[in-house]
Amino acid sequence: METKKWVVDIEGNLSTTYPHIKEAAELLKKNEVIAFPTETVYGLGGNAKETEAVNKIFQAKGRPSDNPLIVHIADQAQLQEFVSTVPTVAQKLMDHFWPGPLTIILPAIKDVVSERVTAGLSTVGVRMPDHPVALALLKEAGLPLAAPSANLSGKPSPTSAKHVWKDLNGRIAGIVDGGITGVGLESTVIDCTSVPPIILRPGGVTKEQIQQVIGEVNIDPALTKEDEAPKSPGMKYTHYAPQAPLQIFDGSVTFVQEAVNRSKSSGRKVGVLATDETKQQYEADVVISCGSRSDLSTIANRLYDSLRAFDETDVDIIISESFPKTGIGEAIMNRLEKAATLPIQREE
Ligand code: AMP
Ligand code: MG
Repeated sequence: METKKWVVDIEGNLSTTYPHIKEAAELLKKNEVIAFPTETVYGLGGNAKETEAVNKIFQAKGRPSDNPLIVHIADQAQLQEFVSTVPTVAQKLMDHFWPGPLTIILPAIKDVVSERVTAGLSTVGVRMPDHPVALALLKEAGLPLAAPSANLSGKPSPTSAKHVWKDLNGRIAGIVDGGITGVGLESTVIDCTSVPPIILRPGGVTKEQIQQVIGEVNIDPALTKEDEAPKSPGMKYTHYAPQAPLQIFDGSVTFVQEAVNRSKSSGRKVGVLATDETKQQYEADVVISCGSRSDLSTIANRLYDSLRAFDETDVDIIISESFPKTGIGEAIMNRLEKAATLPIQREE
């Protein structure tokens, strides 16, 4: 299949952008799937109400079928069509964080969105993205769009159209290129069918921000304990992984360098995922900085691009620094730990 590519001007040059959005929306209405930018990562969208379209999303990504998809909307009024009740806490969260990187799990009306979207659950995850291109496409298509990240399943999520092209060229109808995404990590997922609500996946909105709006929230124990089964189906898979195995070392530069040396002495080519503060200090085959430790939001923004950059090198192993689990750091470490193939090592 030929994959079309439309470069759009997110600064809002509507006269050149609109025809592209219209063409992409027409394809969505014909049950084709289209990748588009959001403020988190690029999404791969398809009509959430049509199983034919949703099947194409799973096929293009090679995604396990028991992993439900998030439905994207441009207007809260669209919820009435497929959500049975909106609890008061959910309404507060929407009013405060939408459009934005927060996915809210709500009770679904049966048989409106495809059961391939909900993976047969009685609930549905919904969010309103905070990106002019995503919102324009949603409005023009006039449909709720099921949209997981636009990468091959298991790979780091795409934060640029180039990443999407690499993974999905020839597998999808088109890509709307709106430049680099903002947050760079996926949305926070919160289940509002429980009292108090439960955070199932850390992401662009932090636990602290949520607590300020609704007070008490629980955290899925699987996010902190290794032997708990996650409540969110998608959280059990290895995810976000570059080609080479990755291991996190939590400690000083010396501690990380010692790990590099051990791998080097066994004849392997070693890559280090470092930070601006430390990158000059390592002796390794490849050193990539994902930003300054003083600004965790930049680390979040550049994490997936940095992981993908190792795929362009010939390293046999990636040794990564660790990050504090505060604010967006919680989501950074959640994704890094999922990308890792070996258990985290901590300095004594
Ligand atoms: P992705 O689309 O790759 O960002 O992943 C979506 C995430 O939301 C996965 O972790 C899913 O398991 C989770 N999710 C989506 N819908 C639901 C739902 N109804 N209940 C629980 N988790 C969900
Ligand atoms: Mg994904």
